Amino acid sequence: MRHHAIQDQRDSRSTRTPPPPATSRRARELGTRAEALASAITTLHHDIQAAHDQSARRAGFRCDDAIGCAREAAGELCDTADDLDRIAAASVPGTCPIPWGACPEHGNTLTSSGGLTWCRDAGCGRTWSYDHIGLPCTEPARWTVTDQHGGTGMMCDGHALDAAKRLDGARTAPLLAARRKELA
Ligand SMILES: [Zn+2]
Ligand SMILES: [Zn+2]
Repeated sequence: MRHHAIQDQRDSRSTRTPPPPATSRRARELGTRAEALASAITTLHHDIQAAHDQSARRAGFRCDDAIGCAREAAGELCDTADDLDRIAAASVPGTCPIPWGACPEHGNTLTSSGGLTWCRDAGCGRTWSYDHIGLPCTEPARWTVTDQHGGTGMMCDGHALDAAKRLDGARTAPLLAARRKELA
């Protein structure tokens, strides 16, 4: 399906604000605490297993589950912090304003599954260890794209390529270095 206007694709820079300050740091700190909790439960489990009383040893049967839950929480919080850092990077002036990721060389050729993303272009081989499609683009804006109605948007290499393919009558022009500097 071809689109007709750049406005359909663009995330307005004025509405793109970075995540609240310190949320990424807090998520990482809570992740460290969850990891420490997992270690503390592991120690508790060893101590319970050292009991002479068989009933007391049996009472520790939930510890493995508790350790697993704490480790899972640590991992989820670490991934949350990483995503917040990527969103903050995407709100830096001069960055492509499209609110989803693309392959920097091939454009709209990505597939995400199970927290991994890869480019479907046979000769590419690029992969990302996170949902690169679901997060805003962090590539530098290098092109001005103008659609048939005169609407313009600044985009990175991959998104400009994609817009040129998909938007009826779209034209792309390199963003001048001076303009890029002004934006940054
Ligand atoms: Zn690619
Ligand atoms: Zn982009």
